[in-house]
Amino acid sequence: MRDKVKLVCTECGEENYYTDKNKKNTPGRLEMNKYCPRDRKVTLHREKR
Ligand SMILES: [Zn+2]
Repeated sequence: MRDKVKLVCTECGEENYYTDKNKKNTPGRLEMNKYCPRDRKVTLHREKR
């Protein structure tokens, strides 16, 4: 089973990325350092349903 999740910038709240999550591989919350176009830098992005 795969869930679609949004990755939200923790600095400005922008929803920058969409991804699939495999529940078996990643039971916890996804956190990724990704580029945020609004902040124009790499920020921490966190999963949001
Ligand atoms: Zn941002």
